[in-house]
Amino acid sequence: MGGTERNYVTEAFDTNWIAPLGPNVTGFEISLEKYLGENSKVAALSSGTAALHLALILLSVTKGDEVLCQSMTFSASANPIIYQGATPIFIDSEEDTWNLCPIHLEEAIKDRISKGKKPKAIIAVHLYGMPYKIEEITAISKKYEIPIIEDSAEALGSTCKNQKCGTFGDISILSFNGNKIITTSGGGALVSKDRKIKEKAIFLATQARDQAPHYQHSEIGYNYRLSNICAGIGRGQMEVLDDHVLLRRKMNEFYKDIFKNKEGVTVFTEPSKDYKSNHWLSCIVIDSKKAGFSSEDIRLALEKDTIEARPLWKPMHLQPVFKNAPYYGAEISENLFKNGLCLPSGSNLEKISRKRITKSLLNFT
Ligand SMILES: *Cc1c(COP(=O)(O)O)cnc(C)c1O
Repeated sequence: MGGTERNYVTEAFDTNWIAPLGPNVTGFEISLEKYLGENSKVAALSSGTAALHLALILLSVTKGDEVLCQSMTFSASANPIIYQGATPIFIDSEEDTWNLCPIHLEEAIKDRISKGKKPKAIIAVHLYGMPYKIEEITAISKKYEIPIIEDSAEALGSTCKNQKCGTFGDISILSFNGNKIITTSGGGALVSKDRKIKEKAIFLATQARDQAPHYQHSEIGYNYRLSNICAGIGRGQMEVLDDHVLLRRKMNEFYKDIFKNKEGVTVFTEPSKDYKSNHWLSCIVIDSKKAGFSSEDIRLALEKDTIEARPLWKPMHLQPVFKNAPYYGAEISENLFKNGLCLPSGSNLEKISRKRITKSLLNFT
């Protein structure tokens, strides 16, 4: 927390705005719209997952449809496809950004069309804050007229060619879950250039109530709006977003420095000057033949010193729950999962914690 969050929350209590609407919800949306710029319209929601679900509904994804989705991601990117009764088609990553591979994406689109069904949407993720290959993916989306849902849950504060993540999709989503770059304890947002999309998202998120003095419904609604209490935390967090990005980027430098002389250890970083990652999490991949140890060796050594590190996201096409879903790709995401590791990356890691990490990693540098 930055400090001012409590003031906004206290204001909500003092004015009795304890509801999924109120001045903090509106204020948080305005603050996000200002930050994202370029006419972004933001609907504050209860989670990033809810935002993804509404994005699919707004793009008319229904039972029997197919949706293309990055395989290497958190399951929340893919679950809402199932909520809609649609089928996820998983796509491998490429090596530069670890995100959606344009070659396999196009291969999948062509193959699905030849099988008689054109996919309804593309879910592209900025994993660990690293922007996906915007130009290539957008070009494919335009060529085949398949809209992009930009999963920017991990990438608020990242940019590609100075344009902010959260502004690239036909519809974009953000998450303010407890572990993200800024948090509302739990929360999310749907972002679009179209005011009507924002309005429709809010309509669906508040039980799809028609204009009438009584309760009338012509559509199925959801209870997905953000609470005014949580939005208060969000308003305060917006004041420290830039600081958090700076601190996370510093953590990435910290690890680059630790491993600078070690062959076989690569700290995940931007492929070119066009990309700027918020480095939500700092990750490494290990070539165990060159390094002489594996990512699991590092994880266990850190664990011994009571420091938590975790493997990278396990690709969706390897998850038991999605075992029957089609997959297009090679073994890029699979190998990243096998050889990668997320290291302690918090914005609040004190010098003493960083010293402990350095010491614990000494045998691997
Ligand atoms: C966190 C996350 C989500 C889901 O956001 P919630 O607010 O936790 O529902 C979706 N996609 C990715 C890539 C995430 O990391």
